[in-house]
Amino acid sequence: MKFATKVIHAGIEPDPSTGAIMTPIFQTSTYVQVAPGDHKGYEYARTQNPTRHALEHNLAALENGKAAICFSSGLAAQDAVIKLFKSGDEVLSVNDLYGGSYRQMLRVWGAWGLKSRYIDMGDAAAVEHAIGPDTRLLWIETPTNPMLNIVDLEAVCAIARKRGILTCVDNTFASPFLQNPLDLGADIVLHSATKYIGGHSDVVHGCLIVNDAELAERLHFIQNACGAVPGPQDCFLILRGIKTLHLRMQRACENAAAIAQYLTAHPKVARVVWPGLATHRNHEVARRQMRMFGAMLSFDLKDNSIESANKVLSGTELFSLAESLGGVESLIGHPASMTHASIPREERLKVGLSDSLIRLSIGVEDVDDLIADLDAALGSV
Ligand SMILES: *Cc1c(COP(=O)(O)O)cnc(C)c1O
Repeated sequence: MKFATKVIHAGIEPDPSTGAIMTPIFQTSTYVQVAPGDHKGYEYARTQNPTRHALEHNLAALENGKAAICFSSGLAAQDAVIKLFKSGDEVLSVNDLYGGSYRQMLRVWGAWGLKSRYIDMGDAAAVEHAIGPDTRLLWIETPTNPMLNIVDLEAVCAIARKRGILTCVDNTFASPFLQNPLDLGADIVLHSATKYIGGHSDVVHGCLIVNDAELAERLHFIQNACGAVPGPQDCFLILRGIKTLHLRMQRACENAAAIAQYLTAHPKVARVVWPGLATHRNHEVARRQMRMFGAMLSFDLKDNSIESANKVLSGTELFSLAESLGGVESLIGHPASMTHASIPREERLKVGLSDSLIRLSIGVEDVDDLIADLDAALGSV
């Protein structure tokens, strides 16, 4: 089955009791048993829920995996991955990972004895060099936020596999439409389905997808034992969002390509960061491992002042000033004062995150309107 068919059909069966074509929201906490132990495979809703099961089968198919395990948020999914390890183990991670992932790794799991180090994974040889005696997990994001760095998944996962180290790829920014890390050698794929997979900015949800049956069993055990499961209504909303994932991603990526071109030619723009541009540091790797180049884009201004950035940020009408990404509507944000405000200025500058850097999550609106909106805002600088 190809992707556009999978989003609509994989794992989805008409409801056997009524024929309902859409998976019902099974809003129940328990299931009646005929006699002790004699039931239909459903005992208690933390452990099993039919709406969640349909979603898990669908997500597994989208990432070419054998099993998906769903959680109440992307960070709850990360929490489950870290619980596979023990005190003294080390996670080697990309150095510009999602702020919430960094906070959990450092402040929650650090207090339990997890060691973590953060490196530039743009160069696979540097990853091999950084692996230490306690390294048990590589935590990879590609593209990253907001610098849109690309990690060569095939090369880095091969290094980890050779050394007996697990790899977890946070595939939130790409979505399964653009990139399938399991096919490139990763052990675990993580999504904040809050973003592109849900796609409508109306639900918080996370999932893990794996190919290995034993790993799936351990993660299912953690899902049930720790209990950060999503509710059935949230699962329904994610299933509904997925049905148009391919259409939304395609349009958003096309819009991003046009906006990247427009911004590159703009006299007030210093630099446009988007993996689809030949000027991007790892453009060739992106071309190889992604189907399109994504709909997240960052740029900074020639005068590089926070004041000018603020004029652009408050000057748009269609691009809403907000955190998050991946919805049908376009968003604009200022990483230095919003998502990355807790990072010291010198650290920010080292990874290229300048004072005037503006991040766009490009939606599926008409691209002429989006460009006109940016043009008016940039005109005020
Ligand atoms: C939002 C996000 C997360 C966290 O997901 P939640 O659903 O908000 O818990 C993790 N990684 C990336 C890349 C994200 O954008």
